[in-house]
Amino acid sequence: MSTATPETGASGAGREAPARTRAGGALLLDGKAVAAKVRAEVARRAAEFATRHGRAPGLAVLQVGQDPASSVYVRNKRKSSLEAGIVSFAHDLPPTTGEQEILALIGALNRDERVDGILVQLPLPKGVDADRVMDSVDPDKDVDGFHPLNTGLLAQKRPRLRPCTPFGVIRLAQEYGIALTGRNATVVGASNIVGRPMALELLLARATVTVCHTGTRDLRAEVERAEVLVAAVGKAGFIPGEWIRPGAAVFDVGINRTAAGTLVGDVEFEAAAARAGWITPVPGGLGPMTIAMLLSNAVDAANLRAERGKSVTR
Ligand code: NAD
Repeated sequence: MSTATPETGASGAGREAPARTRAGGALLLDGKAVAAKVRAEVARRAAEFATRHGRAPGLAVLQVGQDPASSVYVRNKRKSSLEAGIVSFAHDLPPTTGEQEILALIGALNRDERVDGILVQLPLPKGVDADRVMDSVDPDKDVDGFHPLNTGLLAQKRPRLRPCTPFGVIRLAQEYGIALTGRNATVVGASNIVGRPMALELLLARATVTVCHTGTRDLRAEVERAEVLVAAVGKAGFIPGEWIRPGAAVFDVGINRTAAGTLVGDVEFEAAAARAGWITPVPGGLGPMTIAMLLSNAVDAANLRAERGKSVTR
């Protein structure tokens, strides 16, 4: 089998290249460093917005209940938004909050002029229809990019607010000059929040895309063909390193806690790093990128709303 050919400088041209560290034979894709760069850009753009409009962009973060993992994410998101000059509106609701109450709060946030982005932390408590809740967010404030309108726009090659983790994969590839056009890209996982929008992003980047899920017949063969692999399954070390095509770019979205309490991805890291051309670490890969792209979306949403305010028709 031929190896995937590294191509540098294509879409990453004009950007300052991140530091190059190796793990095994692979170049480590440093999500932490690239996320810091994105956050600095966001801070600049948020300050520009504030100068132009007399207020900082605003992001409402809504959490229902106290799922410990969610609480960590929510705290990180609020802290990062403040650091980037984005006002954070915290809404921590008790686990007993009903769907009508959540919908009423989202309705109020949709109408609140200070709020540019609304983030609903998943999972929502049992008995609450997550689709109905997510669909109720104003698509112009949908910083997660999960609203069917935003997913539909991405599917139609006119992205607006883009799902943060897949968008983070694309940005990381750009920063390292990893060419996607014409590549065989395989996404393992087909969820609405990662796998599916990831496939749409790769298609937009003109890769030849395969999406694998529980119905896939020969997963190994699909992974072995991948010059670009995105793993989003949620099972520790699920993809053996020996399946990785030599030279491939491996983006591991999975975040799994082992019995020993450490965090690992969906790909068997060391064995994969010995074969891959590039690989993301877990943690320190797509986790920080996801938060950075969320903040970027919040400023995009603020600018989008400000532009709309100027036009007569909406
Ligand atoms: P999910 O459970 O909704 O989806 C998992 C997908 O994997 C499904 O489409 C399923 O068909 C597929 N799958 C499961 N078993 C499979 C098998 N044996 N063969 C082939 N496909 C199989 O999960 P999700 O919400 O998409 O998240 C996936 C992982 O990514 C989780 O570990 C999650 O924690 C992580 N995640 C990370 C970030 C981040 O910021 N880095 C963001 C979101 C999710």
